Amino acid sequence: MTGKILIVDDLAINRIILKVKLASACHESVQAADGATALAMARDERPKLILLDMMLPDISGIDVCRRLRADPLTRDIPVVIITASSDRARRLEALEAGADEFLSKPLNEVILLARIRSLLRTRETEAELRLRAATWQELGYQDADPSLAGPGRIGLIAAEPVIAMSWRAALAPYLPDQIEILTPTGALTDTNERPVPDLYVVAAHLGAHGSGLRLVADLRSRLASRDAAISLVLPEADSETAAMALDLGANDILTLPFVAQETAMRLRLHIQRKRRTDLLRRQVHDGMKLAVTDPLTGLHNRRYALSHLERIAKCAEGSGKAFAVMALDLDRFKSINDRFGHAAGDAVLETLAGRLRDSLNPGDLIARMGGEEFLVVLPDTLLPEARQVADRLCRAVGEKAIPLPASGCEAVQVTISVGLAMGGPGTTAQEILSRADSALLAAKADGRNQVTISATAA
Ligand code: GH3
Ligand code: MG
Ligand code: MG
Repeated sequence: MTGKILIVDDLAINRIILKVKLASACHESVQAADGATALAMARDERPKLILLDMMLPDISGIDVCRRLRADPLTRDIPVVIITASSDRARRLEALEAGADEFLSKPLNEVILLARIRSLLRTRETEAELRLRAATWQELGYQDADPSLAGPGRIGLIAAEPVIAMSWRAALAPYLPDQIEILTPTGALTDTNERPVPDLYVVAAHLGAHGSGLRLVADLRSRLASRDAAISLVLPEADSETAAMALDLGANDILTLPFVAQETAMRLRLHIQRKRRTDLLRRQVHDGMKLAVTDPLTGLHNRRYALSHLERIAKCAEGSGKAFAVMALDLDRFKSINDRFGHAAGDAVLETLAGRLRDSLNPGDLIARMGGEEFLVVLPDTLLPEARQVADRLCRAVGEKAIPLPASGCEAVQVTISVGLAMGGPGTTAQEILSRADSALLAAKADGRNQVTISATAA
């Protein structure tokens, strides 16, 4: 995507006026004089935003908008439709066609530029998340969420509850969402019982509670409401306040009296966008989790274990405390695969991983390093305790035979060998890993099913 804004208008003079306004805010622009050219340029140039005149000589602005939304290459580009008409039906049509905003001529420059800033900010967040989520999807992770279109939660905040109630009465017939009335203080108070709204509708004047602008900024700065959509309600057109609200993080400005159907549609669009971003955020988060997890056992993987061990070693450097590292390996595992098959081997690994995890404290690390090898790290632990833990792990594995799947009542007895090494200030992750590995080899050589302590541990 380029950093340019595409101006679409059949009149050269209008295009020039817009170009100058945009240039004053350091936006580069490109121009198209009709719908077909606009669509072609949107695909080829991928502008960061499109200012689209409603009346074009070939295709209507609304149709252009629809086609932009239908094309995967252009569907995420923000579109502002500009028109001389203030016809309500047309506005609804434009929103339905997927326009992000609808501005009437003559254009108010302050509002135009604030809208552009706000749309670009939202687009950047979305684009960044989409990129990161896509990376994880390429790694094989995908999740479509059917809850995206379902009802959401809207919080209404006005100077008096009775005002918010009148808004609710006007909007509720057009919205599937749960609409609750909040006080300004209530909106900023976290409670675990009540889920946070997807969208806040905030009055610009909150009477004794001060300014709605302040509340917009507060909502944006709090973790719980940071990602919610916010619409600010102005009693009348007031471009300065509107621009300020957009810059403070409001997604939309609504003017009283509400045209209920249009307002409801705008609110729905914001809820859907917010939901989409939530989903992307979840995908990024789940993808990150997957990248550090072993799929078979659900334990952390080697990548995570190594960076965790580096962290523990660094902490020990600062605190002067000792820590323990154990290399664990299943004894004669190959023979289990040979006798019962690979699937049975997998089941043994899963059960074993569960037994090991259940025998450790939450602050300890257990990871599958690969194959039938595991790593345990105990922070802030001295040798006697570490030795006890290692013996406990051996017992947890060996004391009960592991049932095999799809084989009726068959079960297999397994044991592990453990190499234990102690670290402290000055020990590097590499060094302690290799000491634990040597101790493990010694345990194997010595007959298996036992714990060997690295000679340099004392
Ligand atoms: P030792 O006591 O010396 O460790 O003997 P071992 O048989 O456990 O060791 P070896 O390294 O010879 O064999 C390890 C076996 O583990 C070979 C491999 O097929 C099996 N293995 C590694 N990863 C997996 C896995 O994810 N699933 C299954 N089922 N088997 C695995
Ligand atoms: Mg083994
Ligand atoms: Mg091995």
